[in-house]
Amino acid sequence: MEFKKESLLSQWKKKKENKQSGHTITKAPKSSYFPLSNGQERLWFLQQLYPGNPFYNYTEYYTFKGILRLDYLQASLLLVLEEHEILKASFIYKDGKVSQLVNSNLAVPVALFDTSTLGETDKEQKKKEILDRAANIHFELSAPPLMRITVLKEEIDKHIMVIVMHHIIVDKWSMAIFMERLSHHYRTFLVKGTSEASIPEIQYTDYAYWQRKATIPEDQLEYWKNQLAGDIPTLDLPFDHTKPLKSTFKGALISRKFPKELSNSLLHTAKEMEVTPYVLLLSVYYILLYKYSGQEDIFVGTPISNREQKILEGVIGFFNETLILRAQLSTELSFDKLIRQVRKITMDAFQNKNVPFEILVKELKPNRSLSDNPFFQTMFLYHTETPLPSFGSEVEIEQSLFDLGISKFDLTLYFAENEEGLSATFEYNTDLFLATTMNRMHDHLLLLLQAVVADPTINISKIPILTAEERRIIFMDSSPQKNPWSNSRGIHDIIMDTARHNPNSIAVVADGTSISYAQLLEESDELAKRIVSYTQGRKEIIALALPRTTSLIVGMLGILRSGCAYLPIDTEYPTPRIGFMIADAKVPLILTQTALRSKFETFKADQMYVDGLEPVLKPGVLPTNDLQDMAYMIYTSGSTGQPKGVPISHGNIINSTVGRLDFYTENPASFLLMSSISFDSSKAGIFWTLCTGGTLVLSQKHLEQDLEKMADTILKYTVSHTLMLPSLYKLLLENVAREKLKSLKTVIVAGEICTPQVVETHFEKLDSTALYNEYGPTEATVWCTAHKIEAKDVSGKIPIGKPVAGAKILLLDQHLNLVPFGAVGTMYVTGPGLSGGYWQRPDSTAQVFMANPFSEDPGEKMYYTGDLGRYRNDGAILFLGRRDQQVKIRGHRIELAEIENLLLAYPTVKDAVVHLENGSKDSKHNPILNPDPEQLIQFMSTILDDEEADELLSGIENLTTFQKDYLLEQLENLKV
Ligand code: AMP
Ligand code: MG
Repeated sequence: MEFKKESLLSQWKKKKENKQSGHTITKAPKSSYFPLSNGQERLWFLQQLYPGNPFYNYTEYYTFKGILRLDYLQASLLLVLEEHEILKASFIYKDGKVSQLVNSNLAVPVALFDTSTLGETDKEQKKKEILDRAANIHFELSAPPLMRITVLKEEIDKHIMVIVMHHIIVDKWSMAIFMERLSHHYRTFLVKGTSEASIPEIQYTDYAYWQRKATIPEDQLEYWKNQLAGDIPTLDLPFDHTKPLKSTFKGALISRKFPKELSNSLLHTAKEMEVTPYVLLLSVYYILLYKYSGQEDIFVGTPISNREQKILEGVIGFFNETLILRAQLSTELSFDKLIRQVRKITMDAFQNKNVPFEILVKELKPNRSLSDNPFFQTMFLYHTETPLPSFGSEVEIEQSLFDLGISKFDLTLYFAENEEGLSATFEYNTDLFLATTMNRMHDHLLLLLQAVVADPTINISKIPILTAEERRIIFMDSSPQKNPWSNSRGIHDIIMDTARHNPNSIAVVADGTSISYAQLLEESDELAKRIVSYTQGRKEIIALALPRTTSLIVGMLGILRSGCAYLPIDTEYPTPRIGFMIADAKVPLILTQTALRSKFETFKADQMYVDGLEPVLKPGVLPTNDLQDMAYMIYTSGSTGQPKGVPISHGNIINSTVGRLDFYTENPASFLLMSSISFDSSKAGIFWTLCTGGTLVLSQKHLEQDLEKMADTILKYTVSHTLMLPSLYKLLLENVAREKLKSLKTVIVAGEICTPQVVETHFEKLDSTALYNEYGPTEATVWCTAHKIEAKDVSGKIPIGKPVAGAKILLLDQHLNLVPFGAVGTMYVTGPGLSGGYWQRPDSTAQVFMANPFSEDPGEKMYYTGDLGRYRNDGAILFLGRRDQQVKIRGHRIELAEIENLLLAYPTVKDAVVHLENGSKDSKHNPILNPDPEQLIQFMSTILDDEEADELLSGIENLTTFQKDYLLEQLENLKV
């Protein structure tokens, strides 16, 4: 954090300096070994934790154009080394303590390379090699010099100088001193042919000694304890890949320059609002993070150079301190209010900067893992580039950004200001993000910056953030290209039509018996007539309560052909639940079988038996259908304590099924139906198969509990397609021989989150079978998005895909604004799949079926799913869980409040809370598996006390008692 001269902060800083000038740093007692400053110790530990990792290499890149005297450069360097001892330091670990020592006679030779005689391509290649080596080889902290200077002669009059140091001896401010001294000596050499070192009185080691003796100001510690109290949330950044358990710090930079006009407006707006550009730009960054994460409590880190005393201004060394800036965002907030808040938190943080970061970690004990910084995942920096010092009139010097391929945090945003204007650079971890994501982040940042200069009082929720390309993808039409059934008025008409064309094909197989399409036609026709003679042509809801035999499908089709809708009833459901549904749906008739007669006698409805012999009384004419007519009704859990009926029309289910012809490359020749027909997911297999002439194989009751039998069924009926829960599919893959599954061409997983493990197992075992993930709530008819899973998807979350069957998915924030790609939004569904609303529940309906604000048609509805999602770069949606208390238990959708309300109905129950135990431990934290003991010790010793260490060790899987004892013992030895 560097501030412009006129900034309030720098004014304050000066005042404070004057006040404090009383206790100046004095020379440390003479010694060969000095303590490390707090900051140095942090870097030392980090380097031990990631041995061999060059992530704390500090690099600067300069170009000299003109005549460069290398002899003078080398001689000047020696003088700077003499002036600033820290440049000759190394770090020794002995007897449980680290110290630094200055190696007085250390020489740092400049490494010279000449590519001036090479051709263009060779030149570039060679340059890359040389610079990569210079910048990316790590330093052993015990082996000085911790500095490397490389000069590359590219042309006779063009040299590149790359200076690489370990951060433990330098910071950005120091580099300015370094270059100033280097150029001073160089110029003196040019004039006089000689120069002399001028050794500053105070050296970094004096500072380190002084700092370690200084007491931590209690009031400042108190400030931080208050400021950082409560939960410290992990920032939800739009990762493209799953976070590794341990960071590799691999990274890249992506920069953009802002147009001069925008730069000026931004600087002007900052002035008008009486804040530094730092505060203004940081505020905009907070908005970006808020819009992406949807989180209101946001932590950002920012480095400052803690040279509080005047005398330190000329000292080279590592003075960086990290300040934690915690802001509270909310949609109601206006930009100017946010700016005021950010100004206050930065001022306060700065005033309380004398508590070293590591003390905060020890005092506040935030949750830690090897993959996360304890307080924040992102850093923010702003600096004004000052003109470079002169190396005489013969040569011009320029500085450029050098991409080291490193990212110390998940994400860092640097703003730089120079006479050309402002530029922004994202340094991002390439294990987590793709370059496309970063480019898009730049697009969003630009939109935000433009919006706040246009109106600095704008409400945060009103700031538009969507690019034109995003709008195009979001509003893309997903209607099927071809609709062979556009004239059909009922789903059964399509089935009958198909049946007439394939009379001899097997339509349904169940429990060892099968019926052909011709039989299906004939039997359902007879049944339909019997039903009509009962209903007299009225369109009723008829309960379909049959076991999984071919009659179940005959029954279903019979009801549909009679012009009625079916209410599927699982015969194993608890009697009260069946009773509720029958009463709620006002079912006059239950279609069942004679063997179940007594079970259904208790309900107030008539019964008809598929195996009954009642003659058709008055064979009425089968009524004609309308697309709006209800085809079936499915009950889902309701938070009020009672299930709600979701009526699905013929139009809904035809549309849903047509979508399959469009999306899938192959229709099912043989579909294994696993789900109960009282689940909405069963409709995929039933209607897709029967409408296209395939064989529907009904699984036997509880087949999912016998994986071997399931595989045998697949083998026996040459099953080509199936749909099941991903968790079940994984079990199947893991437990049966792949030979038995070879007929599978298409496997669809749906109903709950598909994990990368499922996908990994699939591609290991059945890589020639296509795997799809389908998503959809019952209210939107079976599916509204789908994704063909690819092997490469396993590096991140598995998408639920893009909208299908004419649906649109709107990802909205709390104010019903569309969220941009990368941001978390609540999923709303629109389109022809939407049910008209809950059965006779206008209140519940109004709560979740609302007017679609993005439609020109005022009657168009959108359905609130309660699911959270985020766009992947390619527009595929990622499912991120739920906003509410709805859970899935083995495919059953359950609102926990429904159970709570049921419990509360007991007279003695005063209060009830239902909580889902899913067996997995705190999912926020990555479990540490198979740790490298050495690294673990180092990690733990820096930050844990004994008790915590013990707890951590007990949480580690696969650790033997011996390993555990060893670790604890080592830990004891390492205590500092
Ligand atoms: P249901 O109405 O029974 O189909 O359940 C719909 C709910 O199941 C959705 O709102 C999601 O919460 C969840 N769900 C369905 N499909 C998926 C999927 N592919 N991935 C994750 N969750 C899903
Ligand atoms: Mg579903």
